[in-house]
This record gives sequence, C-alpha cells and structure tokens, in this order.
Amino acid sequence: MEIKIVEYQEKKNRLIFSVKGVDTAYANTLRRIMGFEVPVMSIDDVEFRKNTSILYDEMFAHRLGLVPLSTDLKSYNMMSECKCKGAGCASCTVKLTLKAQGPGTVYASDIKSKDPEIKPMHGKMPLVKLLEGQEVELEATAILGQGRDHSKFCPGLVFYKMPNVDGDEYIFTVESWGQLTPKEIVIKAIDIYNKELEEFAELVKNLE
Ligand SMILES: [Zn+2]
Repeated sequence: MEIKIVEYQEKKNRLIFSVKGVDTAYANTLRRIMGFEVPVMSIDDVEFRKNTSILYDEMFAHRLGLVPLSTDLKSYNMMSECKCKGAGCASCTVKLTLKAQGPGTVYASDIKSKDPEIKPMHGKMPLVKLLEGQEVELEATAILGQGRDHSKFCPGLVFYKMPNVDGDEYIFTVESWGQLTPKEIVIKAIDIYNKELEEFAELVKNLE
C-alpha cells in the first residue's frame, strides 16, 4: 500500500490523499468509517422553557441538532460505552443553554455551553428570527453520536475518485464540517478500524 498526501488545507478543513495498492472493498470500508462511524458531538435533547417563536419546538430542536459543535474526543465517551452505562453523566453529555428575546435574529453563537471546548463552530448560522415580544429559552444536551445513526453526527464529506477505472489508486477527499479537523477524522477512523479488527481476532481466537 502506498499513501500520498495530495493537498492539505487546514483553513478550508480539507485533506486530499491518495491510497494505492488496495481494492474497492478496502477503500469503501475506509470511506464508510470516516463518514459514518467517527463520532462527533451534536445536540440530541432539548428542554424548552419558553418558545413563542414561529418555529414549533420540534423544528427548533431539529435545527439545533444540525449546528456543528467542536468535538473533544479525548474528554468524552459515547453514552453506550460510558461508565454511567448510558444514564448520562459529565463524561458523555454536555449541557448548553439558549435565551433570546425579539426583535432580532438568533444565531448559533447565542448558544452558551457549559464546556468551552464544546461550542458552535459556525457562530453566524441563523436559528430563528424573533419578532417584538417573541422569546425562546431552552436547555439542550449534546452527546457523541455516529453518522450511521443520524446524519447530524456526520463529521464531514468523505468521498474518493479513481483516476483510472481499472487501476488500484483511490484519491480520497475528507472535508470536515468543523467538529473535528480532517486529520482527526482520518486518525480516529484508523483507530476504529484497528479496534474492530482486534475484536474480530479475539472472537476468532476464542472459538472452540
Ligand atoms: Zn456517561
């Protein structure tokens, strides 16, 4: 296998690399792990105290879920793998709050996080326009999740092209939505791949 970095633009959140000497099944596994198994933080539960905006609670909660949050994979666990066994604790959940009064537009940057490491990456994303007298007040919970469960947990756009249809070279593009850097996406994907193979090997070793 031969790997070459074609382009790396940290500002554009983009990494392009070429992998030579593998087959389509391998390239596709790598693509799927990067796009759908690398976990990122997203708002998953919202408790509304007030919402007199034009959006129903469900619509508003949906929009909040789509706000990319910076993700710290070292400090947080997936709920299913956490020591709290999925009950929710400080190692697997982050609380965020939003309080706004009209008139004016509410932006992602108005969301306040209890953990400064987990915050909206693109502050200028509009969430809702409030008219005079309208207000929202809510508390949200963000968790780590995977794109295979919900696309709001996708870390970015991942695809490959083959420069020669019958060749063995795959040119990957990894473009992050901002939660993780493209580098972190690739490294975490390799981690996941190795871990899954180890688990498989353990399973086979223990066969009787
Ligand atoms: Zn926990």
